Amino acid sequence: MKTIATFSLPEEAHLLRTRLESVGIPAFVQDEHFVQLDWLYSNAIGGVRVQVADEDLEATREFLAADAPQPCPEAEEVDCTWCGSSDVELDPWPRLISYLAVLICRFPFLYTRRRWRCLRCHQYFRPKPSATAWPDSADFE
Ligand SMILES: [Zn+2]
Repeated sequence: MKTIATFSLPEEAHLLRTRLESVGIPAFVQDEHFVQLDWLYSNAIGGVRVQVADEDLEATREFLAADAPQPCPEAEEVDCTWCGSSDVELDPWPRLISYLAVLICRFPFLYTRRRWRCLRCHQYFRPKPSATAWPDSADFE
């Protein structure tokens, strides 16, 4: 048996195990019960291990190499409307305000206006609708 990955939590190890088993590679999770007794054991014993048989090691390497995260084709690419930078993030304030409202008022004030913040020029902006995000009705005729 060869250890192919270690994780801090058993749940993470089982995610990999089920992904491997979905393509026909038997995998086994070791030391999960030690970690479930006390999660501090995870660091002491080197984490929860995922192991495969020696003869499945090459197939596992090929699967993991081909299973790298792919960009979502439906994900929107947002560029700053001020400087054109793609180094942007969603404005965290609406979520923070909703969270604080739940803590203080026990009621969520939903703030649905979605705006972005440029990490280069620090401007807030709303992205222009892209041509591919919402197809015209003519596309369905
Ligand atoms: Zn910008």
